[in-house]
Amino acid sequence: VAKREGGGRIRLFRPEMGERVLARQRDKADLRTAVHGGQLVLHYQPIVDLTTSVVTGAEALVRWQRPGRGLLGPGEFIGLAEETGLIMPLGDKVLAAACHQAVRWHDQGRALDITVNVSTRQLATAAFLPALDRVLATTGLASDRLTIEVTESVWADDAAMRGLMAVRETGVRVALDDFGTGYSSLSYLQRYPFDVVKIDRSFTHALEDSGRTAGVVRCIIDLAEVLGAHTVAEGIETSEQADWLRRAGCAFAQGYLFGKPDHADNWDSQPSVSSSGCAVFGTPDER
Ligand code: C2E
Ligand code: MG
Ligand code: MG
Ligand code: MG
Repeated sequence: VAKREGGGRIRLFRPEMGERVLARQRDKADLRTAVHGGQLVLHYQPIVDLTTSVVTGAEALVRWQRPGRGLLGPGEFIGLAEETGLIMPLGDKVLAAACHQAVRWHDQGRALDITVNVSTRQLATAAFLPALDRVLATTGLASDRLTIEVTESVWADDAAMRGLMAVRETGVRVALDDFGTGYSSLSYLQRYPFDVVKIDRSFTHALEDSGRTAGVVRCIIDLAEVLGAHTVAEGIETSEQADWLRRAGCAFAQGYLFGKPDHADNWDSQPSVSSSGCAVFGTPDER
């Protein structure tokens, strides 16, 4: 099988590679259709104030309603989106939809902050900041109600770092996602400002089994405080984890205990979670 690529290069494939290459081509084409043709779906997961159990915000998490394949999680297509550049239009759509949803909630009397994942690749493009400005202008969302989540890979990309600094100047908040699993150095952390540290769920899950993990998590919470950021613990599944984190001074939490990611329509009917999880929606008065 020979394939002509851009620039007139010809590449030869061994026959057994054919299948895989074709599948990838198909995935690429399908993902392009998905991004531009309305197959992306956003689910929202509650972020809860650990001391009051009030839901103060929501993280937007993208899914792909892929015809014939069901609802795919981001782990199955974000990598391909980054490789192909489709992460740019995908990210723009997610950001716009999430900000619109935040305004909708606000109009319904729910003061929920909105949190959106932004890939380092997306942040590094010159188009990101204008797109962000445009979304804030068209939705009327106050910039301090929006948090963008970046992973620690941002430290390794100069253009993304510049993007991050520019984002922060707009008043939009920045969270370090999956903290403790990536490239952070104490030198970066003290040099560059950010607002939120999200403790990766691998730490949350190891809390009960490992005194070392517990010690490390305590240090992350203290470090965040020193740096002027607040902490959100990810992946909380048990009330024991929630209790431990609350006692350790972690301010916010997210996890199946409080609520799984779900379509915004289902948030209307979401019950206040009972005593163990106890998540209740915040009204402007409660905030
Ligand atoms: P993340 O930002 O760290 O999001 C948290 C992930 O943990 C989500 O997986 C969520 O469903 C899952 N999770 C939440 N609570 C629990 C829990 O209690 N237990 C367990 N086991 N898992 C929990 P999801 O939705 O599959 O997303 C995976 C990753 O994909 C996200 O990790 C984020 O890095 C990325 N992602 C999601 N949406 C977007 C997007 O719009 N743009 C970009 N660039 N990346 C996205
Ligand atoms: Mg995230
Ligand atoms: Mg995370
Ligand atoms: Mg992640």
